[in-house]
Amino acid sequence: MKSLDVITLLRRAEIYAPDPLGARDILIAAGKVVAIGRDIEPPRNVEVDVVDVAGAPLVPGLVDAHVHLTGGGGESGPSSRVPPMALTDLSLAGVTTCVGLLGTDTTTRSIESLVARALGLRHEGLSAFCWTGGYEIPPRTLTGSVRRDIVFVDPIIGAGEIAISDHRSSQPTKDEILRLAADCHVAGMMSGKAGVLHLHVGDGERGLALIRAALETSELPASVFHPTHVNRQQRLFEEAAALAVASGVTVDVTAFPVEENDPGLSAADAITQWIERGLPRTRLTCSSDGAGCLPVFDAEGRVASMDVGSPRTLADTLATLVARGHRLGDVLPFFTSHVAAVLRLATKGSIRVGGDADLVILGPRAEVRDVMAGGRWLVREGAPVVRGPFEKAARVPRGEEES
Ligand code: ZN
Repeated sequence: MKSLDVITLLRRAEIYAPDPLGARDILIAAGKVVAIGRDIEPPRNVEVDVVDVAGAPLVPGLVDAHVHLTGGGGESGPSSRVPPMALTDLSLAGVTTCVGLLGTDTTTRSIESLVARALGLRHEGLSAFCWTGGYEIPPRTLTGSVRRDIVFVDPIIGAGEIAISDHRSSQPTKDEILRLAADCHVAGMMSGKAGVLHLHVGDGERGLALIRAALETSELPASVFHPTHVNRQQRLFEEAAALAVASGVTVDVTAFPVEENDPGLSAADAITQWIERGLPRTRLTCSSDGAGCLPVFDAEGRVASMDVGSPRTLADTLATLVARGHRLGDVLPFFTSHVAAVLRLATKGSIRVGGDADLVILGPRAEVRDVMAGGRWLVREGAPVVRGPFEKAARVPRGEEES
């Protein structure tokens, strides 16, 4: 990895922090934002890389709380296991912070390999964390308990994606969910981490009933629960909106590709509804389900067809919202600051002095153009400048190979 001693001065950036700050310069050193202001002079007697952003929007790196780093799937036989993600799957998508997780398959996949992949991505330049567990209850863990995993294993910040209201779940009872949520909550307090229970919500009619019951019958705060995929049906989305209003639970929509006759709402439609209906904005986040398998089941619960999620859908959703006329500063928080708040990552999801230099420069259609993570460029002009160790570089004509 290139050293962090390069100091970068970005000039004339239109900063969305995510609040719009206007045209500013931003000075980056040792992986941090150290100054934001007008006409910042480059420090003298040190090497400074001065980049003129020429008025392009500069936004926080996206924070994706739901990524199958080691690959998801496996629901349609052994050949349906999705391969692991490479660095550029995330970096080209503008994602600089991710939370990896296991899904249906906690049998052939392990928390050990998930944590190892998160640590690998950290070496490659991203900020990577994990949920321990998976669909199954009792959850698959690394140390034997959810609580110990959160307290002792650096990248593990909570449990997920524990499945409810789904035929692929362990059919958890309210008491099982309560115990798990309590472990997350207490471990979060002990470790200073998020301590969140990130819940996969399926198509089942029970919807969010378990979460409502858990909140009604316990002292646990609403902030422990983070249900995802709540845009998979309009009915579930209504339940999620009601839960956010009545109980203060932050709910998560998935930026999955929506097909014709899909019962779900696209993430862009869900966010648009959320804004237009005046629902509590900080109570909504958006994630990608990257490298997750997106199976379509028939009435018998058999897989009818499959697709694979990609972190690129986050930036695509952002661009769609901007194209619809939403102000960038209004829609960015669903992909950045709101997610960082749920994950309790204080230096992520916003552009501010002292924050991590995780930055994305957007192009004219709000597409991801340049990506910096921890003060280091990973993507320039839409092309990777850093690749994972097993990613093949695009073929370079003979004689022009990089030295
Ligand atoms: Zn899921």
